[in-house]
This record gives sequence, C-alpha cells and structure tokens, in this order.
Amino acid sequence: MIYWDHAATTPPLEQVVDTMSEIMKMHYANPSALHRSGEAAGKLLKRAREVCAAALQVQPGEIVLTSGATESNNMAIKGAAMKYRSRGQHIITTGTEHPSVYECCKQLESLGWEVTYLPVDAEGIVDLAALAAAIRKDTVLVSIMHVNNEMGAISPLADIGRIVKERNPRTLLHVDGVQGFGKLPVELSAWQADLYSLSAHKFNGPRGMGLLYVKQGVQLFPILSGGSQESGHRAGTENVAGAVAMSKAMRLAQEGQPELHARLTEIRDILLREIRQIPGLELNSSERSAPHIVHFSCPGLKPEVMVHALEELGMLVSTKSACSSKLSEPSRVLLAMGKDAAHASSGIRISLGKEHQPEDAASLAQALRVVCGKLRPIMEREGQ
Ligand code: PMP
Repeated sequence: MIYWDHAATTPPLEQVVDTMSEIMKMHYANPSALHRSGEAAGKLLKRAREVCAAALQVQPGEIVLTSGATESNNMAIKGAAMKYRSRGQHIITTGTEHPSVYECCKQLESLGWEVTYLPVDAEGIVDLAALAAAIRKDTVLVSIMHVNNEMGAISPLADIGRIVKERNPRTLLHVDGVQGFGKLPVELSAWQADLYSLSAHKFNGPRGMGLLYVKQGVQLFPILSGGSQESGHRAGTENVAGAVAMSKAMRLAQEGQPELHARLTEIRDILLREIRQIPGLELNSSERSAPHIVHFSCPGLKPEVMVHALEELGMLVSTKSACSSKLSEPSRVLLAMGKDAAHASSGIRISLGKEHQPEDAASLAQALRVVCGKLRPIMEREGQ
C-alpha cells in the first residue's frame, strides 16, 4: 500500500512517538504543581514552547498550545471577534477556507456579525482587489489560509498582509497555516500576521496537538474558561508529552522543509504530467499549487468508486478533504473556483509526504491508467 493522504494526516515520526511515550511514563506530573515532578514537567513545557517559537521566529510568550488547528482557528476567530466587538463586527474571509474557519464565520454571522466571503479565481487564489475593497473601518479580522487543503492553492500572504494593514492598521490578520508549514517557507513577520494556526499531525507530529501564534499585544476573548494556563488564553491541564513531541516534529519539519519541497515538487510534477495524459481526468491543481497536493476531477464518476478502485491496486487517495469526505454534496471549494457540479462532485485528492520518492509517482500513474481504462465507459456514459 502507498499512502497518498498526507493532507488528511501524516504518519508520526518514530522519534515523536518515542518522545511522547517516554514523557507520558516519566513526566506525568501536572506542570502547574509545585513539587519537583511538577517543576520538571513545567520545564519540559517551557522548552517545548521555546522550540515551537524558534521554528516560527517568534517569542515563546506568543505561542498558545492547543488541541489542534480546529481549536486554534476557533480561538483566533471567535476570540478576536468577541474581544474587539466594540471596534466593529465585520470579518473577511474566503469561500474556500477549511470548515473550522468557514463554520466559525457562519456561527458568528448567526450571532449578528457581518462576514464578507471573498471570491477566488479559477485556481482558488483570493481576489486581492476584492480584499482591498472589502476592508472597512469596522473590519476587525481577516482570515485567509496559507495553502488550501483541497486543491493546494497558495495564498499571496505578503500582498494580503500589506493590503490589510494599508487599508486598516487595526484589522487583525489570521492565517490558517496548517497545510503550508513544513512544505513552504513561513514568514509571519513579512505576512504581518497577527494570528497563525497549526496542527501537529499534519507535519508528522502527534494528533490532538496544535498551536496558535498570538502576536504580542493582540488580545483574545478566551473561548475555554477555567484555570489560568496558557497565560489565560486556554484553560485546561497542558499536554506536556504532546507539546514536546510537537516541538520536535516542528523543528524537524522546518529544518527539512527545503529538501522536502524540492523532492515533492519533482514527484508532483511527474503526477501532473501523467494525469494530463489520462483521458477523462481534469486537473484542478497545477505547478503553481503547493508541492504536496495534486487534485483532479473525474466528471461522470462517483469519486468513491475511483478511491476504492485505486485502493484495490494499493494506492490510498481521498475524495475532497477528510473533514468533508463523508458529505455527498459537491465541494464548496471547487464550486467557489467556478467548477460545475459534475467537476465539484467528483474530486480526488492525492497528497504527498515525507516518505515518498519519485518512483512512487510512476506506480500511482500506472494505477490511475489501469483504473481509468476500466472505468472509462462509465465516465463517458455518465459524463455526457
Ligand atoms: N485547517 C486546515 C487547512 C486543515 O487542513 C485542517 C485539517 N484537515 C484543519 C484546519 C483542522 O485541523 P485539525 O483537524 O487537526 O483540528
């Protein structure tokens, strides 16, 4: 089996699993406890925060540890909306964000906030003129992702940051960085980002661990109230083992980013070339997309048929994104890119990771050719 679903989750590195297990056995004390075991756990947590901060070139005090990007995104968007309510109740995002951003915005809309969903072009890139036009005096937050989880579009974040801050210096910029970290360079200061979310399991770290970068001076209404952990941003006993394991994965991902980018680009380009030659498949991603995502539609075919046929040949791919793959509606992301319902309902995502080599692309391309050869009569009949 070759696993091609790294945008859904990545296999944790052996060192990450070993670190977690060792800390869970040896340093199970509550890091807030006053005794020496608590103090030792507290030191590990402090060090983990420093390592995460260094990987992002920010200060340790700007890192809030969370259970993952869903929580980080909720914390950033609802927390900023509530904290800065008196400044205004207008939020800007795009129609192609992950559900953990999109649904947050929908919830806030139902509570009286106004949300502008910016259009994207045929490649999924946000319309910068529309962004500039949408920013108002009462815009408290702009939330735009680094890399789209479905088809890999990369947002021009330096331009986005410049436009946001020129139009309204008080408007906060939140970036959902989940799909970019470890694959592309991350430049929070050049982007002028105030808030930045990550999930550790997308870069070979542990599941259920993430962080939110909160720029010094930015305040958030705490979504989780309780104890005073995480400087009051997030109540609850800290996950020391998860934090240390995440920090290790983060350091390794950041150090390996240029090599991984080069290797995945090579593999991705082979796949793009091959898929362009297979009749019936239509690419939704390109050489301009992130190096770890290849996305295509197979109009006329239920994508799960393609997924299972590829699985029979040892290739594990996905339909849409894992968070919405059980929903039968067309992809909101592809519809926003202007695709018709037949394309938007038949998307297949191939997502690459650390363990892939160029020869894996040849195996997948061969499997795609075999499967499409068999399924072509159905695609031609249904795709009319
Ligand atoms: N944002 C993006 C872009 C994602 O791809 C994901 C994971 N699918 C999330 C947020 C949410 O991450 P998690 O499920 O780890 O909370």
